[in-house]
Amino acid sequence: MKQFILSLLQIKENNIDCTHTTVEVVSHKGIKSLFVTAKLTYDPTLCPDCGCINAQFSIVKNGTRASRITLPHISGLPAFLKLSKQRYLCKDCDHSFTAETQIVDRHCHISTRTQQWIAHQCNQRLTEQYISEMASVSAPTVSRVIDQTAQAIRQRPTHALPQHLSFDEFKSMKSIDSAMSFIFCDAISHQVIDIVEDRKQSALMRYFLRYDRLARHRVKTVTIDMYAPYINVVQACFPHAQLLSLV
Ligand SMILES: [Zn+2]
Repeated sequence: MKQFILSLLQIKENNIDCTHTTVEVVSHKGIKSLFVTAKLTYDPTLCPDCGCINAQFSIVKNGTRASRITLPHISGLPAFLKLSKQRYLCKDCDHSFTAETQIVDRHCHISTRTQQWIAHQCNQRLTEQYISEMASVSAPTVSRVIDQTAQAIRQRPTHALPQHLSFDEFKSMKSIDSAMSFIFCDAISHQVIDIVEDRKQSALMRYFLRYDRLARHRVKTVTIDMYAPYINVVQACFPHAQLLSLV
C-alpha cells in the first residue's frame, strides 16, 4: 500500500507513514482536485537546535503540524498532499522542531518535484500564467522558481560539484509522449544543479565528463533510482561515490 501511494505521488521518501492514508477527489477553488493524506514521522538522530544526540529518549514526539503541499498534477487533476508532520520536543534544550522531508523545503508548501517541473518549463515557449495553471501555483511563484533556477545554473562552475548528488527524471506534462528529462540536485539542499534533456547513458556521460576530474572524484554519494544507465554513469564519472537508493 505504501509503495503504491508513493508511486502514485511520485514521492521518494522513506519516512512517510501511509497506514491511515486517504485519497479523495474534492472541489478546491472550484476545480476538481486530488487530496492525499499521510503522516511524516521518524526517530531523529539529533536535535537541530542544540545538537544533542537522541539517546535515552532525550527527544520525544510531541504532536503534529498540518501542512498542505502542492504536488505535480496526477491524471490531469491538481494534486495536494495533506501531510501531518511529526513535532518533537528536545528535553535537553526545551526546543521544539518539526520533521523534515525532501518532498518539500522547510517553510515551503510547493513540492520540490513541482519546483523542478516548473524549472523544466524554462526552455518551453509557455507563458508563466499557463505554467502556473498547470502547476497549481501562482504566476509570481513560477517567476521566482525560474529566476532561482536560472541564477543557480548561471553560477554553476564546472570545477565544483556538491559532495552529495541526487539524480532523478521526470516527464513534461505538456506532452504525454515527450521523453523523460534528467535532473540532478544537491542531495542536501535540494537545489537544482542542472537539467539535461537527454537522459541516455552516452549523453549523461558526455555531460558529466565536462566537470573537472577532481570535482567528480570528490563526490561521496549519489542517490538514484536503480536505473541501469545511471549506475553506469555514476561508476564511470564518480568513481569514489557510493550509490544510494531511497525507494
Ligand atoms: Zn535540543
